[in-house]
Order: sequence, then structure tokens, then C-alpha cells
Amino acid sequence: MAITQAEIDRLASAPVAPRKLLIEGKWVDGQGGETTVLSPINGQKLTTTAAASAEDVARAVASARAAFDDGRWSRMAPAGRKAVLHRLADLIEKHTLDLAVLGVRDNGTDIGMALKAEPGSAAGTFRYYAEGIDKVYGEIAPTADNILALVHREPVGVVAAIVPWNFPLMIGAWKIAPALAAGNSIVLKPAETASLSLIRLAELALEAGVPPGVFNVVTGPGRITGEALALSMDVDVMVFTGSGPTGRRLLQYSAQSNLKRCYLELGGKSPNIVFADAPDLAAAAKAAATAIFRNAGQVCVAGSRLLVEAAVHDEFVAALSKAASAMKLGNPLDLATQIGAVNSEVQLEGNLGFVADARKEGGEIVLGGNRALSETGGYYMEPTVVAGVQPSHRLFREEVFGPVLAVTPFTTEAEAASLANATDFGLAAGVWTANLSRAHRMVRAIRSGIVHVNTYGGSDNTVPLGGMKQSGNGHDKSLHALDKYTELKTAWIQL
Ligand code: ADP
Repeated sequence: MAITQAEIDRLASAPVAPRKLLIEGKWVDGQGGETTVLSPINGQKLTTTAAASAEDVARAVASARAAFDDGRWSRMAPAGRKAVLHRLADLIEKHTLDLAVLGVRDNGTDIGMALKAEPGSAAGTFRYYAEGIDKVYGEIAPTADNILALVHREPVGVVAAIVPWNFPLMIGAWKIAPALAAGNSIVLKPAETASLSLIRLAELALEAGVPPGVFNVVTGPGRITGEALALSMDVDVMVFTGSGPTGRRLLQYSAQSNLKRCYLELGGKSPNIVFADAPDLAAAAKAAATAIFRNAGQVCVAGSRLLVEAAVHDEFVAALSKAASAMKLGNPLDLATQIGAVNSEVQLEGNLGFVADARKEGGEIVLGGNRALSETGGYYMEPTVVAGVQPSHRLFREEVFGPVLAVTPFTTEAEAASLANATDFGLAAGVWTANLSRAHRMVRAIRSGIVHVNTYGGSDNTVPLGGMKQSGNGHDKSLHALDKYTELKTAWIQL
């Protein structure tokens, strides 16, 4: 059924009820009071969410532990968990539009992208792990003849998932689906500025038959609720997507508490490298604009550093800027919008600060650079292209997480590879060339979790997503993600 603007507008005008915490299958108030949720579309109050205190978090963890220990989910046959997760995917599909609209009102992503990347992708992720989990076998080790050594794969126990605001359902599902499929219990901590669609997801999980206590949700400030979760003595695994500084804190909290395993996905400063021999420079320019400006640059794999061969630099930057100007910036609930709102005022101020610093350091603002649509009261920013960015500049080194592209020219393949790697991050990259050998050489040379060739940003559930260097450790997606949510146990049996 085609989605109409009228239907979106109808859903978007409905009030959003205040939301509570989910502990032991019940919706309860938070002892930390409430958080006011502002919509980035117009800066107006949307609703409130409960703020979980450290005691609330302890109760949520205890509920997850009790559920894990009594086996209500952890010892259910994989085929049973699979059936429930498929039901959850059915419910997500049934509620695609209302989940997407709710999420957009909360985080500002344009509705076209949200429909695909949020409920659409989350439903697919639940199905992928639902189908995967009864096809994962243990091992018999090749030991001596009088020994039988079995390698079991067991769920780990209580998983804490701390997730960000840019794609809450998609990234949430990357963690929740494999964790639940493997039989773990979860305590989910959504971001303060994007919790509503995840709370709704938890509601649907209960409806699908995930037993009470297996999936708990604690909302609230990172420095209170998130910190209490990360310091818990009874969380076995912490999975996180977010900023580097918070990732560092989580490792410290782990060391201060029970040495819980920490898997971190910490963003990037991903190079998109265009050689003069790219098969179609016009197509590459359009793709380079999308690579950085979709979701207003709030994408962990965004192609935020454009490295372009000097011979085609000027023509390429002009084509890219033209493509970026043609992208429609506006109300994210409008089906025609291609660049929606920046998630929060703090984020917007940060983006503008990067532009100001780039100017000071000698960068040339080729396009944009300013706040937009301020008359709406919402948080919007022009797509911004800064040329002449040097490796020493802040814009070359630090993640903006906004619609700001740094452009740097190069002359040789060796220089391109060296500039690509001149960053502490290593999440994603793009290479545009018609030379097959060069493409493979670049894939080998670049230290990042994914290298796109003659495209940018494509992916699906079958391939792992994770970072090298300070972009983090561990992988979301693919069956490799199950490594985070399972323990290996050896049974060494004398025959
Ligand atoms: P951003 O700067 O993009 O908002 P953060 O890393 O701060 O990214 O946020 C990602 C997630 O981490 C959010 O759910 C946030 O609440 C949480 N968070 C922030 N600070 C902490 C902290 N000190 N401990 C635990 N979680 C935190």
C-alpha cells in the first residue's frame, strides 16, 4: 500500500503519551523524574520519558538476571525463540508507518529514509537472526581418540545495550535481535533524544511473546542511567554505539566494576576517495553528496572526508556542490524532504562550531555553513562543503556527525592511501576508480571495517559492520555478531 502524505500528517498530529520504564514486563515511573522530549522539527515539547535512577537500573538488571536464570527464554528451544522473533518482525511491519513517524518526530530523520532504515531494516534484522539461530551448531574438537571434546555455544546472560539517536530502531535491532535470538536477557538504554520508537518496539516485543523480564528498557540521562547500567556488577556484556568519549568511559566503568565485556562502535571520519579515472565522475559526485548529507550527516559511516585527485578537483567539487544544493532540506515529515533536521540544538551548535574552526584554520567554505529554517524553531543546517582541509585541521581529524564535508586534494595513489589512513578512526571508506588492480590495492591499504568501491554506503545483514582503530571493536550484523552474545564452553570427556 502506498504511503500518503495525508496519512503521515494525521499520525504526526497525534499527541504522544508520556512514556515509562519497562521493568519485569511492567511499565513503571522512574525515580529520577522525567526527561522533556523536544522535537527537532520545531523545538516544541513532544512528550516526556521517565528518567531511571541507579535503583531503577538495578531493578531492571535484576529482572533480566532472574529471567535468564530461570530459563524462561534462555532455555527455550531456538525454534521457539525464532517463532517469537518472527512475530515481532510481523508486528514491526504492521506498524511501519506509525513507528517511522514517531521516530522522525523524536529524532528528525527524513521520513523517506526513516521508513527504509528504521522499521524496515529492524524487521529484516529480527528475521535474519530468527532464521539464523537454529542453524548455529556447536563443535566436536579433533582431540585424541579417548577424549570427546565438545564446544558448546551458550548465551552470555544479561546484555546492556546503550544505543544512539541517529537510527535508534536500526542500530537497536542490530544489538537486540542477535542478543535475544541467542537466549540472552536485555536491558536497553536508548538515547535521551531518540527513545520513543524503541519504547514502542519493546511494547511490540511483549505483544509478540518475549517473556516479561527478558527485555527491559531504562530511559534517562547517559551520565546517570547509562552510567549506572555500565557500572552494574551483574551485566555480563555491554554493547554500545555512540561517541568516542562515552566509549572510553564505558571501558573505565567496566574496569571499575565486574570487567563486563564491552563492544564499542564509535563512529568515524571516513574517507571517500575519488580518482580521476572513476568510471562516471558525475555519478560519483552525486553519490559523494548523498554519502555525507543523507540523514543530515548523522550517519556513523558517513563519507565525511572527500579525497579527490587534483586533476579533477575543481570540476568534482562543483558537481558535488550542485548535487548537494539540489537535495531538498526541510520538514522531515514531508515525503519530498531529503535532508531533515539535526537531532538537537546541542548537536547543531557543535556542527556550526566545526565550521567556524574550519574557517579559522584556512578552510574555504564552498557551500552552506549556516543554520537554516530557523523560523521553524527546529534545528536545521545547510549542507556544507569545506575545501582546502589539511590533515592538521580539526575538520580532518574529528567526527562532526553533521552535514559538513571536508575536501582534500591528492596527486598519487600512495598519497591517497596515506591521507585515508591519517585518522584515528577506521570505520568505512569509498574508492572510485575504473582500475580493478588499483581498487583492490586500495581495499588492502585502507584500515577500515568496510571499503566501498564505485558506490558508497551499501550494506545488508549478511556482512559484518565494525570498526578498526579507535572506531571500536566487535561487529554488528551477520552471524559474526553472535560472537558478542555467546560464550564458548568446552566439555572435555574421557571416554
Ligand atoms: P552523542 O554525543 O552522539 O549523543 P553519546 O556517546 O553521548 O553520543 O551517546 C550515545 C549513548 O550513550 C546515549 O544513549 C547516551 O545516553 C549514552 N551515554 C552518554 N554518556 C554516558 C555515560 N557516561 N555512561 C553511559 N552511557 C552514556
